[in-house]
Amino acid sequence: MFKNLLGKSLAYRLTAFMTLVVVITLGIVIFLYIYLERDFASTTAEYQFSLINRTFNELISYINGKDHGIQPQQLIERLGEESSVNYITLYNNSGRPVMSSVTSLQTPLSEKELKELENLSDDHSVASVSKKTLDYIAPIRLRASCRKCHADGNILGFIKISSYAGNVYKHTYDMAKKLGLIFLFSLLIFGVVSIFISEFVVVKPLKEFVALIHKAELNNFLPRSKLTREDEIGEIEDNFNQMLSRITNLMATSVEKERELVFVKEELKYKELLEKRSEQIEKVNSELEGSVKELSMLYNFGQYIISTVDMNDLLRIITTAIVDTLNYKECAILFKEDNLLRIVSAWGFEDNAKLMGIEFGLEEGISGSVASTGKPMLINDTSRESRYLHYKGQIQKEGAFLSVPLKYKNIVIGVLNVSNDIPNSLTKKDIDFLTAISAQIAVVIENARLYEQTKELSITDDLTGLFNRRHMRVVLDKEWERSNRYSQPLSLLMIDLDLFKEYNDKFGHLKGDEALAILSQIIKMNIRGIDVPIRYGGEEFLIILPDTNAAGAMATAEKLRKAIADAFTQNNIPTLTISIGVVASPDEIFDSVHEFLYASDIALYEAKKRGRNIMVKYDGKSMQENNK
Ligand code: GH3
Ligand code: MG
Ligand code: MG
Repeated sequence: MFKNLLGKSLAYRLTAFMTLVVVITLGIVIFLYIYLERDFASTTAEYQFSLINRTFNELISYINGKDHGIQPQQLIERLGEESSVNYITLYNNSGRPVMSSVTSLQTPLSEKELKELENLSDDHSVASVSKKTLDYIAPIRLRASCRKCHADGNILGFIKISSYAGNVYKHTYDMAKKLGLIFLFSLLIFGVVSIFISEFVVVKPLKEFVALIHKAELNNFLPRSKLTREDEIGEIEDNFNQMLSRITNLMATSVEKERELVFVKEELKYKELLEKRSEQIEKVNSELEGSVKELSMLYNFGQYIISTVDMNDLLRIITTAIVDTLNYKECAILFKEDNLLRIVSAWGFEDNAKLMGIEFGLEEGISGSVASTGKPMLINDTSRESRYLHYKGQIQKEGAFLSVPLKYKNIVIGVLNVSNDIPNSLTKKDIDFLTAISAQIAVVIENARLYEQTKELSITDDLTGLFNRRHMRVVLDKEWERSNRYSQPLSLLMIDLDLFKEYNDKFGHLKGDEALAILSQIIKMNIRGIDVPIRYGGEEFLIILPDTNAAGAMATAEKLRKAIADAFTQNNIPTLTISIGVVASPDEIFDSVHEFLYASDIALYEAKKRGRNIMVKYDGKSMQENNK
């Protein structure tokens, strides 16, 4: 309640406490002062009055004759012996001293004193204080008994009792001493209480608070003040607590932020690293992609160009693939033949056929230079390159042009040219890529050449397994010569499939090829071992029958015709028939082997004329005349 009354302020409390102590002390001092003063004054006054009374009584009893044992002089002397009384003087009513307890008489009373004393009411006295004495003067009033002797007036005289002033001062001194002691005691209590209060109310909590501050100084922000007070210190502690919690929060936030910063820095580092890596990966990827693309293009291209060994097909495939698959505008292949370069294939040009066969010297133009140096040449802008010959004026467009050598076993066998309409559209990458595929091209071209050469060396036909036309010449010449030398008969059967074009159209070229193969087998099965079956043309066959005369030849022809007609009907294969021209020597006489062969052709023609699926024997010049 006390607390509440004084409020929460420490200043209020301290002020209240001080005020209380001061008020109490002052109260005590004032009380004691008043009490002691009164006590002293009354004691002194009472004593003086009792002295006066006693003196009066004694005087009166003396006057009344009751006690004549004591003389006034003696009485006064005896009173004067009182320790507290200095001396006693009696004055007559005119103020003159008449009797005194001391030998020396006192000075008469002044007029002023007399006046004052005369006007004084009963039982009162006039007190005066001098340096040494405290004097009380009282009038001696006449009583009834006094009037026996003293008739005049009311006042008989005056009595003055002088006390030592030292007594009064002693009292005052005592009182001051007491008051001083009380004051000192109060001060002591005040001091002790102040120390106690300041120790427990201010210093102790402040010390705790300072300890807390020191902890905080050492970065320990976690401890908190207990907050048991509601005064200024409590407020400061509360504020400090709040500040600490703000600091801890801030620290937590800063730690968090620091962590975040470290994390962000790390992340940034990794991000940068990752970015760098991903850039590298992207670069490698795009290079790989490019390489893979190039590889797959190379692979596809490789697959594409090995699909044939026929030179014409191959050249066509290469140029179209370079234009269509590898996205160059134009492509031409030139073969090196002796001291010339000849365009053997062209694709993507306005008129490809127009370029075919154009020839360049080995030093002529870009292609010539490439063929002679064996090094690729890139022309970024053909309109600015004087060596570029525009395919001998056939191509006037501007653009980029690249020529790479076709090398087989380090020997230039030709040149591969590509061109685009846009200048600077070809780069080193194109040089590298085309150089790579030019090696492949050179290999497949060489393969095709080899195949052609092998084909030329071979004597049989791939599809039918029969002898080829080249071999026919050798055999026919030999048999013709032998027949003439030994006069032995020699016959020829010239066979042609009937309406085979229709057959192809109806069932497809592959089925046609199959039919040719089956037919060849049937031919082989129906002739003798010494007979020579030859694939003479596409669907034309020649069978050389050594030692066979006209009858034998006709019989063989007929047997073949029948076998074929039957075989194709039986095997559920669409009907296929043959027409056969038969020629026999020496039934007919021929000047040369050519005439002999030609005669077989005429007989065949006659067979066709006669309605096909028939065998016709050449029967002389008349037939030749008819079929001209
Ligand atoms: P015909 O002889 O009865 O007068 O009629 P045709 O339709 O057979 O005429 P011709 O003999 O002139 O036709 C030749 C045809 O034979 C052309 C072609 O379609 C076909 N031919 C030629 N060589 C081959 C080949 O090797 N394979 C295939 N499948 N067909 C061929
Ligand atoms: Mg034919
Ligand atoms: Mg035919």
